[in-house]
Amino acid sequence: MSNTPGHMSFFELLEALQQPGCALCRLVAGGTRRRLEALLYESVNDVGFRELWRKTRGYCHRHSWMLADTGHTLGLAILYEALIEHWGERLLEAAPALPCPVCSDEQRAGRDHLDTLIKGWDEPRLAEAWAASDGLCGPHVRLARQVARPAAVRDAIAAHSAKRLCEMTSDLRALIESFDYRHEPASDERVKLAWHRAMEKIIGHRDLPEPPHRRR
Ligand SMILES: [Zn+2]
Ligand SMILES: [Zn+2]
Repeated sequence: MSNTPGHMSFFELLEALQQPGCALCRLVAGGTRRRLEALLYESVNDVGFRELWRKTRGYCHRHSWMLADTGHTLGLAILYEALIEHWGERLLEAAPALPCPVCSDEQRAGRDHLDTLIKGWDEPRLAEAWAASDGLCGPHVRLARQVARPAAVRDAIAAHSAKRLCEMTSDLRALIESFDYRHEPASDERVKLAWHRAMEKIIGHRDLPEPPHRRR
């Protein structure tokens, strides 16, 4: 995959950096949602897809519920009928032998988006968007610590992300004080959601798992 400016992934990242929260979480979660939607609309009867679906016995807990959130009743009914007809009661007795394919895709997507950030690091538009951004969440900072080269970029990613984390205490303090009867209730959305932004910054987006630790 090319990550030179001009490539789609570069502009996607640029756009995501201008939104609140961790840009990598935003891109990975958005990609998964689009993929699950498309799958239910286009691939339910695809022979190759159906074979993989049977082999993996569907998806993990998290991705099954994301699939349910698409609200595509017919596709969901077809997929679960196929699983029960193939595996029967074994579905309840043993865990699947294969990992959830959507989880594997998300790990790859996180790495790809991080690569785009690193390769575009010296590009002025990206540098400007990064400097104004909220930085990365805890899981993605740890991923960058493991894989980002050179060390100067790795350290810069971690330092900016940590700075943004520590800055959150002023909004958290303002939110806490807004509950005191002597203060005005919070009206600023950033303050009202300060607890949510802080939690997401530390643990990552709601729908994303911790990237796997590098095997040594
Ligand atoms: Zn993240
Ligand atoms: Zn999964």
